[in-house]
Amino acid sequence: MYEQGVHLLQQYFGYQDFRPGQKKIISSILARQNTLGVMPTGGGKSICYQIPALLMDGVSIVISPLISLMKDQVDTLHSMGIKATFINSSLSHKEVQDRLNKIEQGEIKLVYLAPERLESYDFMNLLQHIDVSLIAIDEAHCMSQWGHDFRPSYREVGSFIRKIAGNPIITAFTATATAEVIEDIRSMLNISESNTHVTGFARENLTFSVLRGTNKESFLLQFLKANKEESGIIYASTRKEVDQIHATLTKKHYKVGKYHAGLAEEERKHYQEEFLFDHLKLMVATNAFGMGIDKSNVRFVIHYNMPKNVESYYQEAGRAGRDGEQSECILLFNARDVQVQKFLIEESVRSPQRKMQEYQKLQAMMDYCYTQRCLQSYIVHYFGEETEINCGKCSNCSQDFVERDITLEAQKIFSCIHRMNERFGATLVAKVLKGSKDKRIQQFRFDKLPTYGIMNTYTEKDLVDLINNLIAEGYLTLTEGQYPIVKIGARAVPVLKGQEKVLFKLKKEVEAIVEDNNLFEVLRELRRGVASEEAVPPYVIFPDSTLREMSKHFPIEEETMLEIKGVGVHKFEKYGKVFLEAIVKYVEQNNVEIKPVLQDTTVREKRSLKGNTGEPSHLQTLKLYNEGLTTKEIAKEREMSLITVQNHLFKCAEEDATMINLDDFIPKEYEKEIIQAVEEVGNEKLKPIKEALPENVDYMAIKAVMIKHGLK
Ligand code: ADP
Ligand code: MG
Ligand code: ZN
Repeated sequence: MYEQGVHLLQQYFGYQDFRPGQKKIISSILARQNTLGVMPTGGGKSICYQIPALLMDGVSIVISPLISLMKDQVDTLHSMGIKATFINSSLSHKEVQDRLNKIEQGEIKLVYLAPERLESYDFMNLLQHIDVSLIAIDEAHCMSQWGHDFRPSYREVGSFIRKIAGNPIITAFTATATAEVIEDIRSMLNISESNTHVTGFARENLTFSVLRGTNKESFLLQFLKANKEESGIIYASTRKEVDQIHATLTKKHYKVGKYHAGLAEEERKHYQEEFLFDHLKLMVATNAFGMGIDKSNVRFVIHYNMPKNVESYYQEAGRAGRDGEQSECILLFNARDVQVQKFLIEESVRSPQRKMQEYQKLQAMMDYCYTQRCLQSYIVHYFGEETEINCGKCSNCSQDFVERDITLEAQKIFSCIHRMNERFGATLVAKVLKGSKDKRIQQFRFDKLPTYGIMNTYTEKDLVDLINNLIAEGYLTLTEGQYPIVKIGARAVPVLKGQEKVLFKLKKEVEAIVEDNNLFEVLRELRRGVASEEAVPPYVIFPDSTLREMSKHFPIEEETMLEIKGVGVHKFEKYGKVFLEAIVKYVEQNNVEIKPVLQDTTVREKRSLKGNTGEPSHLQTLKLYNEGLTTKEIAKEREMSLITVQNHLFKCAEEDATMINLDDFIPKEYEKEIIQAVEEVGNEKLKPIKEALPENVDYMAIKAVMIKHGLK
């Protein structure tokens, strides 16, 4: 019967084969099992019930809440020669009667039904007489109180099914994969766990990255500069931030749209259309943007802030690469994002039960930011799919890390938490480990603990990060709520007993994601030409990712060209030569110095090891400062930017206020004025503070004042 299904798929739908997930679901239905299929939007759920409907005798009923789409769906089926109809409130009484008659006479295979019809007496009466072989409940999450889209009329589905004569197979479909919703659907429809199939959540053409502790603005500017030709969306969590990013980019002459609920309807519509039609390549938006938007060539989605849960993140990030081309999904994480989300939960959610749920989801989102596992794998598991994935390209899979044994550090952290009776949050634990002089610590007498100050070579922020890593990996657990408490998890026990090690992948410095040269553009232009000559889409020649590798590694011989991902022997013979020639020409014209790939990384490693005495970089800077060098001289000596040097010194000051003399950086005559400005404008952003002050007060002075007076 399954083979017959494949045949129908080819005959009616013109597709070669089922997707892996469809295979499982359809086989289960054909084995007459009540089945729940959980698949992301676009995964191909319709075919999972349409094909079995065609294979079975009698009529199949599809319950769908999307009245506006029913006509389209039925029209599409008609165009393929499938007998289908729909019944909903848009029809007159007579029309309904006509259709019911047709169904009764066996002229229809598929009936689409709006849920409110389930209460109709006529309809229920009719169903006594006909042979219903299959019931498909589309968008089944509407049945669940826990769903984001609960529909009261869906409550009738259960009793409706029980009233139907015969023994129809019950199937349900949804893209919502949260555990509560799945549980709910299963118990209402009597579907076993083994007949629940969660599939298709992986998006192979997407590369996921989480960047923690990067300067968001400079990352964004750098990224956009390297990806000038690409279309992308930048999501931020507040209107204010959207406006700010939009202003910054506009100032840098990017053509960019914006979208948030605070804009006039007209303005939003204008920007949206300009973006859809590719007149604007970039869009900065809150999560209000994107519903129902299907722009296929979005090459990147950057989250400027962490969203509230993995569902939202994946939905928004998933707007990249609809066309199947390689695309980037980058999340810029900052601990402040967590505060913002907590604030939003506190403001917007009333029911305590719901609140807990939101906090749980937020925690899962944070875990995504701190996990060491493959990010694609993390997401897919979050949605309940059991596939093991190592995507090989996300920021955790790719090779930008060094493995380190942090067993000792972990033991110190566990022991400290234990000694604090597992009653405090990550920040306070970090403060104790750091040996901070915080009032609360003295109040609780934690400065008397043997773990007080045992990790004082770390910054507090690094310690909090480390604790969060340990949470994400299950060594520690967090209670729910606005002020979560860190507790020791089961996985920590063997570590404390010395039976197991903790190995962490620690990231090296983040590099630019895309090489900053225009060979990529040259190659893309070339590809466009070749593609139109051959009348095929460009990605058939080489995908973007291959061109990108070429523009990174400059292959100028057959041998090196064949090492590029996506260049096989066959492709090389067909297209390789023209691309090779183009690269040779580029290399000659631009005096590119070519290094073998391997050497390239050693050079990079050497550079990062240079002057590495094992001492943290900021302390090396401090040494030179103590030797009497000016910041400019240090910058020159250490081959760093002036800003880095300044930041190093401030880091020292933050760790221990006596390490540097902040007054060196503070113009006495402005000190009071700076304090006032910070108090007026707030301490969140430096820029507005600077703008509120005379021009000759520099950032350095502002920062120094803030640290000196504890205004940060
Ligand atoms: P969902 O309801 O899961 O969001 P749809 O059923 O609307 O998804 O299908 C999404 C798209 O995928 C449709 O264009 C559909 O024709 C296409 N599709 C479904 N199954 C296959 C398949 N096996 N091969 C190719 N395309 C498919
Ligand atoms: Mg659907
Ligand atoms: Zn991965």
